[in-house]
Amino acid sequence: MAARRMVVIGGDATGMSAASQARRLKKPDELEIVAFERGRFSSYSACGIPYWVGGDVTERDALIARSPEEHRSRDIDLRMRTEAVELDVPGQRVRVREETGGEHWVGYDELVLATGAVPVRPPLPGIDAEGVHGVQTLEDGQRLIDALEQRVESGGAPRAEGGEARRAVVVGAGYIGVEMAEAFVKRGYSVTVLEKGEQPMSTLDPDMGALVHEAMCGLGIETVLGAAVTEIRTDAQGRARAVVTEDAEYPADVVVLGLGVRPATELAREAGLPLGESGGLRTDLAMRVRGHENIWAGGDCVEVLNLVSGRPQHVALGTHANKHGQIIGANIGGGYATFPGVVGTAVSKVCDLEIARTGLLEAQAAAVGLRFESVLIKSTTRAGYYPGTAPIHVKMIAELRSGRLLGVQIVGREHAGKRVDIAAVALHAGMTVEQMTCLDLGYAPPFSPVWDPVLVAARKAAAAVR
Ligand SMILES: Cc1cc2nc3c(=O)[nH]c(=O)nc-3n(C[C@H](O)[C@H](O)[C@H](O)COP(=O)(O)OP(=O)(O)OC[C@H]3O[C@@H](n4cnc5c(N)ncnc54)[C@H](O)[C@@H]3O)c2cc1C
Repeated sequence: MAARRMVVIGGDATGMSAASQARRLKKPDELEIVAFERGRFSSYSACGIPYWVGGDVTERDALIARSPEEHRSRDIDLRMRTEAVELDVPGQRVRVREETGGEHWVGYDELVLATGAVPVRPPLPGIDAEGVHGVQTLEDGQRLIDALEQRVESGGAPRAEGGEARRAVVVGAGYIGVEMAEAFVKRGYSVTVLEKGEQPMSTLDPDMGALVHEAMCGLGIETVLGAAVTEIRTDAQGRARAVVTEDAEYPADVVVLGLGVRPATELAREAGLPLGESGGLRTDLAMRVRGHENIWAGGDCVEVLNLVSGRPQHVALGTHANKHGQIIGANIGGGYATFPGVVGTAVSKVCDLEIARTGLLEAQAAAVGLRFESVLIKSTTRAGYYPGTAPIHVKMIAELRSGRLLGVQIVGREHAGKRVDIAAVALHAGMTVEQMTCLDLGYAPPFSPVWDPVLVAARKAAAAVR
């Protein structure tokens, strides 16, 4: 009997995890696996790009988990620089365009949509000028580094004519924006972050966002809020020279865009596959596209269930993409796996300031009709007397009456951020803040105060809802 054919569109986290997992479960004579990737790289960590640009990671290839050759050596027919341009769902086939421009149809028994997300790029004058960079792909990262390195005098810090530090303007103060701000600080640039909203990190409540704003300014990063960009001004050679907002103009030697992403679902939409309100593909728990027995989707192109709000949401994070791929591969490979949903956990940092969240923000809780109490505590990351201890702020949100934990946000230094995982587990377990007060967390002076900051917040939240 001829092997069934699994076709994967997208050769990064979701797509190649699905392909690899299916290959572990099925031999080539049972399942042929063909994957199409339009870019030059497969299975790489976009998450590492800011740290590569900033110099913490020195080699581009350190970000590549598995090259196309490695995939091929595992009997996965990964075709690079090949774009899927049309889906024919009734005919079970995909039209692909090769680098040479040649096109043909490829049939499938199982189809995996792993097309990721598209960065938001508003149609502003100058947005496509030389010197304006995105950081969505490894190619983007390479272009940015090449551009920066072309301009640096050998061995020295980057200096503009006249000896002043070169200027980087980052548009957008989401997590990619703040990570890129750090990267430029590390490169010795003078950094401005322009944010249209009233706080950096809209993934936090305003009071926690204000702490991030204060800390960013303290780190020497000029962070301008309420700054809606209207234009990128260019010089006579067409190079970006300044970013213009409604109120001011910010000189720039380099501009980086960090304006968020939307699910990449054009192919799916044109083929009539179901999309949710967030714009992401709708799947069932097995990551099968709703209503389509042999079409699967995962990662940044789908929407997921938020287990705390009960609402679908688009969450573009690698942590989910990798899990989705594993689950899809397991199911296509004859196993059984499901993805229940997310609780909304994320962690990031700008220089030594760590920023984390899980669960719902106040506005998200209110939007789904939940009533709650919020508490904010300030503590330290280690025993107060222990060398190296640093401040940490923990905000905790709990439902009125039931006392159920709804969300936690953390802003602090040195190992503050990953404490959010305690709260993520508590959310998965449906714990109340009262139950959390007795969590048996590790304690010794170098690691935490005798009352861990999360426990202090839980005690205060429990008192508030009691
Ligand atoms: C700068 C940066 C930092 C990040 N940091 C973090 C972090 O710290 N933590 C975290 O959890 N997440 C982070 N992420 C997000 C994470 O990288 C993504 O969530 C993850 O890569 C999504 O995986 P995916 O496979 O769904 O999509 P992608 O990784 O986007 O892969 C999709 C692939 O599909 C290809 N493709 C699309 N359409 C077609 C087509 N028609 N034909 C052929 N190929 C196609 C694309 O070229 C792409 O390679 C970061 C992302 C960026 C950009």
